[in-house]
Amino acid sequence: MKPHEMGVAEIGRALRAHEVSSLEITEHLLTRLTEQQRLGAFLATDADAARAQARSADARLAQGAGGPLLGVPVAHKDIFVTRGLASTAGSKMLAGYASPFDATVVARLTEAGMVTLGKLNCDEFAMGSANENSAFGPVRNPWNEARVPGGSSGGSAAAVAARLVPAATGTDTGGSIRQPASFCGITGIKPTYGVCSRYGMIAFASSLDQAGPLARSAEDCALLLSAMSGFDPRDATSAERAPQDFHARMLAPRPGASAARPLEGLRIGLPREFFPAALAADVEAAVRAALAELEKLGATLVDVSLPRTELSIPVYYIIAPAEASSNLSRFDGVKFGHRAAHYADLLDMYKKTRAEGFGPEVKRRIMIGTYVLSHGYYDAYYLQAQRLRRMIADDFQACFKSCDLIAGPVAPTVAWQIGAQGDPLQNYLADIFTLPASLAGLPGMSVPAGSGAHGMPVGLQLVGNYFDEGRLLHAAHALQQASDFHSRAPAGV
Ligand code: GLN
Repeated sequence: MKPHEMGVAEIGRALRAHEVSSLEITEHLLTRLTEQQRLGAFLATDADAARAQARSADARLAQGAGGPLLGVPVAHKDIFVTRGLASTAGSKMLAGYASPFDATVVARLTEAGMVTLGKLNCDEFAMGSANENSAFGPVRNPWNEARVPGGSSGGSAAAVAARLVPAATGTDTGGSIRQPASFCGITGIKPTYGVCSRYGMIAFASSLDQAGPLARSAEDCALLLSAMSGFDPRDATSAERAPQDFHARMLAPRPGASAARPLEGLRIGLPREFFPAALAADVEAAVRAALAELEKLGATLVDVSLPRTELSIPVYYIIAPAEASSNLSRFDGVKFGHRAAHYADLLDMYKKTRAEGFGPEVKRRIMIGTYVLSHGYYDAYYLQAQRLRRMIADDFQACFKSCDLIAGPVAPTVAWQIGAQGDPLQNYLADIFTLPASLAGLPGMSVPAGSGAHGMPVGLQLVGNYFDEGRLLHAAHALQQASDFHSRAPAGV
């Protein structure tokens, strides 16, 4: 098996069995990613630094050391700051920005022995659903290079799907791990808000932003999540909970379950609002087929309702821009990144710097956010959105009285053509199924569920209750043990 054909767990096993070295795998992937630059997935690489990390992992492996991630390559969404590799958030504002420190998520994966191959393209400040908003060009979907990979973690999803790297980090504010994972036929998990530290994650909407892994399988995601999660005193919203071994939890059998029916007794709620008439028939068929597989494994499907699903779009597109307008005020030409070359006075410097540094979607959101927070509109928009956000979270709790997990599609369609969706509102509407869990702060996953129109991948979304990532990963793993949706690769990969 060629190194790029192996996932995280397989590479780990091969390394510990000394069948291959981390340096060999790293070299192979470095060559591969330079050959596949047309995908636009990578924004920065440092081959020598990666080789040095691989050599040090090999030295530890030779001494018999061996955590599951030691020597396994990874790449990071360019929203995480990294020492030694430029951190841009996909924005001209931060082009070439050198961070003096590593984000906690990056530091923890490095401590676990992972080899950093580079930084991955994303929508500017993680604003988007197609990776068409990056200042450094779009990312192409490896299943069909004329199509988008989803966003905002589009570089992460494309790199994993194209087998340039076995796993990547991403962030999800309103769907940015789940939706690109779905569009690229890979597995991704956004944990409960507070599970992964936001320290060193360039902020978009702080009450929603959450990091998580994208990989080929639930097992690989579980391995990464165990290492990257956990309390961090440097993030004021980090959940103070003991570290969790998601991999062990994923493997633990359910009480009363058998090998043939590992999900016996698991109740999966299907919100009727997640299957509207407007849902593309190909997406619905793939999602229903995956649900039928889960039923074969012992799960029971129950009807539930999330009555405010449609409202999650206006609520999110008020709250997220409001927080973004505040977070992005720090980019003023003084503290970080870009500063206009010519200006008359301080105010002119601010104006020119921000006009030059930010792209159109970021400007649009700063204007919306400033508007909804302004005196006279705050009560009508921002406060109202916050009230509805609470009701959306309560709706989920009502559902969890009759089910353990919630399932539905990740997105209403498969990945669209690059350049086909010019209207920002169309992009916002396509977030309908991922926004509710984000607003509620709940963990959500995208699991490959076969393909829909044009042979493009479809993702099944699973949402759990707070801190129930283990149950999500367990169900996804059971599905992946019994089916091969997750191991399908784009043609020629
Ligand atoms: N598509 C959503 C947006 O544009 C979500 C992005 C994200 O999760 N970072 O805001």
